[in-house]
Amino acid sequence: ELEELRRRAAALVHDVPDYPEPGVVFKDITPLLADGPTFRAVVDHIAGGAHGPVDLVVGMEARGFILGAPVATTLSAGFIPARKAGKLPRETVAGAYDLEYGSAVLEVHADTVWPGARILVVDDVLATGGTAAATIELLEQAGAEVVGVSFLMELTYLEGRSRLAGRPFDALLSY
Ligand code: AMP
Repeated sequence: ELEELRRRAAALVHDVPDYPEPGVVFKDITPLLADGPTFRAVVDHIAGGAHGPVDLVVGMEARGFILGAPVATTLSAGFIPARKAGKLPRETVAGAYDLEYGSAVLEVHADTVWPGARILVVDDVLATGGTAAATIELLEQAGAEVVGVSFLMELTYLEGRSRLAGRPFDALLSY
């Protein structure tokens, strides 16, 4: 069953070499998102992997929004978008990070996270782990507990998992 889901999902992830710059193989998940049953099954897989109760799902801009929001509703959890700098209109907590390509800052509205909140972090791709590490750091600074970090896929050769410091981790696909 899980192997069948992996096979179906992997067939719907398209590799785009040298995008957005030479040497990067971009993992395009839009064909997977456009396949209703597979999208649904991936969301159910991520939601089903949660360790205990989840108060909030945090998804990172932009594809973490697409996966994280349906995971949140499946779990009857709230959803928090972790947005790129300057997009949120009110007081934020922020974390800086380096990307496989470039660097940036992610922010959440300070009053959406509360001390002790149990949070599942969701994104499409774990690459260097910088995005996830910055997100975890800003949530923990706000007093929340990151109870899991779940990705559609992990690019194992970039060793991003080492930056998650042993927090419960899942990736449906690995490359
Ligand atoms: P990183 O911080 O290096 O783990 O990068 C993860 C973030 O960048 C995720 O939000 C991904 O959506 C995006 N990303 C990084 N590398 C790729 C890739 N090869 N293909 C698609 N998205 C990527």
